[in-house]
Amino acid sequence: MRIPTEPRVIIRSCREYDPQKIRRIVREGIEELGLRPFGRTLLKPNLVAAGPNFPHAFTRPEFGEGVLRALKDVGGGSMRELAVGERCGITVPTRLAFRESGWDAMIERVGGVQRYCFEEQPQVEIPLSHPQRLRDYLFTPEPVARADFFVNTPKFKAHPWTTVTFSIKSYIGIQDDRHRLIDHDHKLNEKIGDLQFIIQPQLIAIDAITAGEGRMLTPTPFDLGLVIIGNSQVAFDAVCSAMIGLDPRTVDHIRLAEEYGFGSADVSKVKITGDVSFEEAQDRAKGFKVGLVRVEKYFEGSKITAYAGPPPEPEHSDYCWGGCPGAIEEAIEILRQYDDQCDAKMPRMHVVFGSYAGGIDARPGEKVVFIGDCAEWKGTIAGKPVQIRSQYKDRGHLDPHTAQHEDIFKKMAVTTKKMATSGSNVIRLEGCPVSVAEQVLALVALGGLKNPYTDPKNIGQFLRGYLGWRSRVALNKLQRKRYQHNGTFTQRGEAAPSVGAATK
Ligand code: SF4
Repeated sequence: MRIPTEPRVIIRSCREYDPQKIRRIVREGIEELGLRPFGRTLLKPNLVAAGPNFPHAFTRPEFGEGVLRALKDVGGGSMRELAVGERCGITVPTRLAFRESGWDAMIERVGGVQRYCFEEQPQVEIPLSHPQRLRDYLFTPEPVARADFFVNTPKFKAHPWTTVTFSIKSYIGIQDDRHRLIDHDHKLNEKIGDLQFIIQPQLIAIDAITAGEGRMLTPTPFDLGLVIIGNSQVAFDAVCSAMIGLDPRTVDHIRLAEEYGFGSADVSKVKITGDVSFEEAQDRAKGFKVGLVRVEKYFEGSKITAYAGPPPEPEHSDYCWGGCPGAIEEAIEILRQYDDQCDAKMPRMHVVFGSYAGGIDARPGEKVVFIGDCAEWKGTIAGKPVQIRSQYKDRGHLDPHTAQHEDIFKKMAVTTKKMATSGSNVIRLEGCPVSVAEQVLALVALGGLKNPYTDPKNIGQFLRGYLGWRSRVALNKLQRKRYQHNGTFTQRGEAAPSVGAATK
């Protein structure tokens, strides 16, 4: 894995989503960086949540079109394959995210571009050997493992759990759900650091035309009017952070990626060019809101009172930034998009995370929900003694080889049943983490809210996407069995990649 010795960032002005203008800017950027796409060229957008309810959460298709056309302009015949791949968030089929975001229509318009939904692809094991690793190996989809020229095209956004989501953080989308949720807890930044060993992008182009501030799934639009291009992921994120007034080394995943050897976060060492100076870019970004928001603060003034104690490894952090508390913030934001009566309908309730030692101010009849395996508490609720014991198991017991996919319809059935049959006002939600999807479903059941997964406007598309995904995975399994049987066949008629194929 070669990290450029001369990290470079190009800042260009672009006030509108004009694919031809973006194409010209990116083409010039690729040429200035001296790059030439080749072999299997894979572009990864950020489509974490897409469609009309999430208009500013994802890399816009016009941006993708400009980048794809620029890659064709420069790479031409030296690209064996030009592909786009992603795993979106919140257990939605990525097929749906591609369609809802407008990327499907764009890909068809551009022509000659393969599309990969990463959760539908075979997963490849990547060994890790750096001393700080969380695990000895992790998994990534085959198209990522075999990419020769990797292009990261994230969206310029704030993130309430990791401060920002630029290029490094968007690597959470290079794992399917089974593997993505492993270590998606208070070690999330370390996990993101480990993901860097899978592959490094030769080219980064971020959609900072309309950036997203404040949140990750439902950010507020912020007109930055920029296309930022770079050749080194740590340097790139460092420049973006400094642009919004953040010391890059205070962002844990950037600091860790630097410590792991993926480039310098020292902005003074980055050669910055373009038609917008760094100072002018800073000026444009003035007032951009980021920040980590603790769950107690987030729910202040609402009908939900939140309480959070430390996660199981308190020496690391007194708060689980990457797990259950952040997930409920995103869950409620999603519900507000689908149900404009969300806050009005929600009954008064209490949610508790981690090893919480303070009081819980619940009146008779009010629900108290302990969320996550590590929740523990002892005290009196509405005059009755209650003891909740931690069920947390050390991360070492989780084996990515045997990680199972948790089906959204199964989650729906289990969560709904649990909420309906719980005779008590004290409820426990198990899991580490309890995902955004599960917390959405729990709040739907507790508040009698509209269920985004069965929204009449989307259910047809959702089911089609879901069935397409599950059929593809079943077909892959069949084809793998045939390959294992005769040793000559993969789904694309090519040799299966070897372990660690991505390490270059
Ligand atoms: S159970 Fe939830 S809050 Fe506890 S460590 Fe796991 S992800 Fe964090």
